[in-house]
Amino acid sequence: MAAAAAASASLALGEQIRRGGHEAEAEIFSAHAAIADDPELLDDASERIRRDGASAADAILGAARRVADELKELQDELLRGRAEDILDVADNIARRLSGSGSATLAEPVIVIARDLPPSVTATLPRDKLLGIALEESSATSHAAILARAYRIPAVVGVTGLLAAVNEAGAAVEITIDGSSGAVVVDPDASDLAALARRESEVRSDRARDEADAALTATTRDGTVVTLLANVGGPSESEPAIAIGAQGVGLFRTEFLFLERATPPSEDEQLAAYSAVVSAFAPRPVTIRLLDVGGDKPIPYLQIPNEANPFLGVRALHLAQDRPEVFITQLRACYRAAAVGPVKVMAPMVADAADVAIMLDLAGRAKQQLRDERRAFGEVELGVMIEIPSAVLIADTYLGDIAFASLGTNDLLQYTLAADRGNANLDRYRDPLHPALLHLIYTAVQATARAGVPLSVCGEMAADPDAALALVGLGVRLLSMVPSSIPAVRRAIRGVTLDELRDAAAAALAERTAADARARFARFVSKG
Ligand code: PEP
Ligand code: MG
Repeated sequence: MAAAAAASASLALGEQIRRGGHEAEAEIFSAHAAIADDPELLDDASERIRRDGASAADAILGAARRVADELKELQDELLRGRAEDILDVADNIARRLSGSGSATLAEPVIVIARDLPPSVTATLPRDKLLGIALEESSATSHAAILARAYRIPAVVGVTGLLAAVNEAGAAVEITIDGSSGAVVVDPDASDLAALARRESEVRSDRARDEADAALTATTRDGTVVTLLANVGGPSESEPAIAIGAQGVGLFRTEFLFLERATPPSEDEQLAAYSAVVSAFAPRPVTIRLLDVGGDKPIPYLQIPNEANPFLGVRALHLAQDRPEVFITQLRACYRAAAVGPVKVMAPMVADAADVAIMLDLAGRAKQQLRDERRAFGEVELGVMIEIPSAVLIADTYLGDIAFASLGTNDLLQYTLAADRGNANLDRYRDPLHPALLHLIYTAVQATARAGVPLSVCGEMAADPDAALALVGLGVRLLSMVPSSIPAVRRAIRGVTLDELRDAAAAALAERTAADARARFARFVSKG
């Protein structure tokens, strides 16, 4: 009973958040409803009542802790993140069983916790929530995703936070700096003065960035670079536009597919895509076809366990067994194109045969819509270049597509054979590695020969030194997390193309990423 009530409460909460325009975040709560109905959890809880005489609330919390502990042992960050979801659902059920309601705040506070479940993050009264500091969690946790979407200052992964707060006593003061990640427990007068200075700097930086939003990223000698946004859902459009994004270079649609029990319907996808497209129109929105597998497993797509998921059935590879997943998504993209300009790109394309698969899927989606006499618009079709093979034989397929976008995050990991998420391989993670620069330059030359526009949408574009390298190598479209747009724009406006071309030629001949980076860092003010 309580589980059923918790499930319907999760769905209702999801609906409320969806109505507030946060579609991707709302899906988290649909997934919670599925957890609350999970027979394994409920059987274990019943067993604890029967065997140990536990109260119903203790039984569900005990069962959830067991599952969560197992998940926390796993390598996969997303699965580890599920542990918090399960504890959240159990906590919800236990609160119902003991008759207590949802979280409230009596006065404006920074919420401190080991981790914060999404349902609590979403229901904390935002007029009283000054910030969030979490001992555990990561930038990809649901708490962090929601905090970002709601623009609440948050600091995560603060080792020793709870011990420090406990030691300092109940009514302790704490300060957090969401941009630097600094947390000070029991600050003294000089800490507070430093924070006040920092706060006024952040405020004036933000005011300057918003005032500069209309400026173009033009080098001192007149080369214009287009700056686009990477987004994950409709709620991110408005802040991206406010900071001057000239379109969307990467809409990561996976967030619509994660944390739920079944794929989103065509209409659900259409609603999410149209919301972003109409917010940006007449600026173009580039929708990336589903990129799951690798570090983003999706249980309902039933990808078998793989020894090495980053080299397994990932993204477009799925089209062989599940073409309908992509056709549904493409239908939604074509229909969203009736609202404004849409580009669609396939991730993880290795060669001309993959390009042919994408074009075939798009053709089938379009034909279906035509047969059904549905309204749709034209879509430009392109690919992400993020596998070295796709760079080396780009000439064999560029004639078939309208644009290409370099996914430097994956291109780097596949070029240097270094898992992008492995903290022990940091030495291989600088995108200014000369090997990556050579591949990028090869892609620039191939796309120029074919007359195909090339953008970069990996994290590299958000790093001012690296963005200058990309411009020096010939890239004129950069897509990034919107908060990086102002710094990249300033860096580009401070240099000439000649300087960047010379630096790029020199960087291609360097032995290390650090040496290549130094060629560009000297142009960027680090203040
Ligand atoms: C990339 O690989 O650079 C990219 C932009 O895609 P993702 O980070 O989503 O894999
Ligand atoms: Mg990628």
